[in-house]
Amino acid sequence: MADRYQQFTKTPIGKFVVPRLGLPNPPVLRRYRPGQPPLDGPALFGGAPGGRLGKAVTTQLAAAGITVLTEPAGGDERYGALVFDATGITDPAQLREMYLFFHPVIRRVGSGGRVVVLGTPPELADGRERIAQRALEGFTRSVGKELKRGATAQLVYVAAGAEEAAESTLRFLLSAKSAFVDGQVIRVGATGTPAVPAIENWDKPLDGKVALVTGASRGIGAAIARVLARDGAHVVGLDIPAQGGDLSAVANEIGGSALQLDITAADAPDKLAAYLAERHGGVDVVVHNAGITRDKTLGNLTEGAWDAVLTVNLVAQLAVNDKLLAEKVLRDNGRIIGVSSIAGIAGNVGQTNYGTSKAGVIGMVADGAPKLAEYGATINAVAPGFIETQMTAAVPLFIREAGRRLSSLGQGGLPVDVAETIAWYANPASAAVNGNVVRVCGQALLGA
Ligand code: NAD
Repeated sequence: MADRYQQFTKTPIGKFVVPRLGLPNPPVLRRYRPGQPPLDGPALFGGAPGGRLGKAVTTQLAAAGITVLTEPAGGDERYGALVFDATGITDPAQLREMYLFFHPVIRRVGSGGRVVVLGTPPELADGRERIAQRALEGFTRSVGKELKRGATAQLVYVAAGAEEAAESTLRFLLSAKSAFVDGQVIRVGATGTPAVPAIENWDKPLDGKVALVTGASRGIGAAIARVLARDGAHVVGLDIPAQGGDLSAVANEIGGSALQLDITAADAPDKLAAYLAERHGGVDVVVHNAGITRDKTLGNLTEGAWDAVLTVNLVAQLAVNDKLLAEKVLRDNGRIIGVSSIAGIAGNVGQTNYGTSKAGVIGMVADGAPKLAEYGATINAVAPGFIETQMTAAVPLFIREAGRRLSSLGQGGLPVDVAETIAWYANPASAAVNGNVVRVCGQALLGA
């Protein structure tokens, strides 16, 4: 599973050879450790005149323990982040404010630094403002491709009225938890702004919550279970009976529960709803991580392989959602979180079944977001790119190397990167984060 090339670049020989041959030199990404400062340096905040986010955002960043500067620092100090409020931009001519702010300071973004642009969801604006706000996407994605040393860029569209609801998103993006999220567009408050509960302890935002993680015995699912437990949740890990041993080991390690169940069984939604209601009085977070591949090009694909993938990756999840919502087993301010894939965005050879199912997960989010907002809950998904797991270790070497290097961060992600993104959605303070599909892909060209 190890990225041997990246390991080689850090050896004495690698350090000598790699720059001389102009080979890729993927940075070691800064990942979250409890107690670490969110950023390696201060955040510089700026904004176009008339922006509405300055006060809320600078207050939220300071509360997260980030030093916020509103004027560029002298000397050649490195910034941990550059944050720009572009909500004041109502005409394309004003986009030059972006250039004026970023041009003098962009080279001073430090290793693992963050660029965050804040805007208004274009679909909630009109005319020239809509056009200008949409344009921010091209700026942010291009900056992401230019940044070096593990620095990333994101665009966060915050709806009017949701200014106070963006804190969990800023804390996630302006920290090492978002190490492998790059070039993404996130919407806060686009489906309305529900009340956002105050978080007493940001290290344990899921205290007292119950989280269900399907496919929790290994890989990405096990990482999700560990991170949600770290954040304070009681995790119910679910997997097929054949994975019972590994599932119990994960559940024991994190003080959670293990539930052996095949989610495709006809009675699985009933059994699951009854289990969650009787043992835990309901569930707060549902993560549909269980997924399978049965890869063959369409002409060679059997009907069974089509059905198996669509059933596990999509149809069974819809049945579970319907049951949990109909019986109100999903509690107030609940979360449904899907795991899509970049193959569901761009398609992939040999994956007509898988790509269909994973695009269906994106459809599930789009259809569910307004309905879940009405219910008092949210639905979002992650779309992982190349993640270092047993699944991707089996990919042929050339494709594996392309998957790793052809991205802004020049490497694959780790299961924990997907898990941290899910934990951000799961946070009770992410009540206004609804209807998003965020790629966890290091801004990969694959799937673009
Ligand atoms: P994995 O195969 O290691 O784990 C999947 C788990 O789901 C397994 O424990 C399996 O037993 C369980 N599962 C399968 N069918 C089930 C069923 N019917 N009922 C209950 N559990 C079932 O896979 P992974 O690499 O950890 O992937 C996790 C998720 O992330 C999947 O949805 C996958 O499609 C998605 N994903 C992975 C990558 C990657 O690079 N690894 C990329 C994009 C998306």
